[in-house]
Amino acid sequence: MIQTDAASTSRTILEVRDLRKNFGDEQVLRGIDTRVAEGEVVCVIGPSGSGKSTFLRCLNRLEVPTSGQVLLDGRDIGAANVDLPTIRQAIGMVFQHLFLFPNLTVAENIMLAPVELKRMTRDEARRTAEDLLVRVHLADKADHRPADLSGGQQQRVAIARALALEPQVMLFDEATSALDPAMAGEVLDTVKELAHQGMTMILVTHEMGFAREVSDRVLFLAGGVIVEEGTPAQVLERPVQARTRDFLSKVL
Ligand code: ADP
Ligand code: MG
Repeated sequence: MIQTDAASTSRTILEVRDLRKNFGDEQVLRGIDTRVAEGEVVCVIGPSGSGKSTFLRCLNRLEVPTSGQVLLDGRDIGAANVDLPTIRQAIGMVFQHLFLFPNLTVAENIMLAPVELKRMTRDEARRTAEDLLVRVHLADKADHRPADLSGGQQQRVAIARALALEPQVMLFDEATSALDPAMAGEVLDTVKELAHQGMTMILVTHEMGFAREVSDRVLFLAGGVIVEEGTPAQVLERPVQARTRDFLSKVL
């Protein structure tokens, strides 16, 4: 566990109020309330189909909630005057499957959004990309194509690309599920380093050991509600709810 003190004392950066999402008749999220403190690392666990991805996608407006609010720094991201690029810049996301552009180099992949959003000149974006590649330990890969890299290296480029926009919060949706254990380990190490650097992160993960080690708080989501939340020790080792115990008995 890394930032317990910081998490308990620092200010709320993300607040979720009675978040609901229906797909047709299916109520996928049925009232989620939570707050995330600046620098906090929150792991979301739960059975397949419980709404974990939908929850993350509502946090950066890849899905429009049916009702409820998401406040970033006290500002409702669903308000009419908030534009999507601003939200996506502030709340970065890394997915299970890689979405690097195969025809661009690693550095160009990282430079793309900062240049397109006119936040940086090409020279600035190139320097930022090089700095970020140092941070994810891929400094020598700047001018390679994604296909020359391993899956774990590509996922670290995807993390660097999200970081290029200097997000306030990073979301990870099973970012290591498609990788073999060694490569998953490399990516998890990168995420751990981000945690130590104070990045606020919400991670959907099946890696219970990782959740135990890195997170300040674990949310157990089932049936579209937070069934149980607390420190990793509370939720993973001394769960109170029968549903949590049942889930953990199958995955641990
Ligand atoms: P998890 O990530 O926990 O496995 P998801 O959030 O992906 O769960 O999905 C929760 C439920 O919402 C599932 O029943 C899924 O079929 C449904 N769902 C997710 N996205 C859509 C969509 N775009 N359209 C219709 N149903 C969806
Ligand atoms: Mg999912």
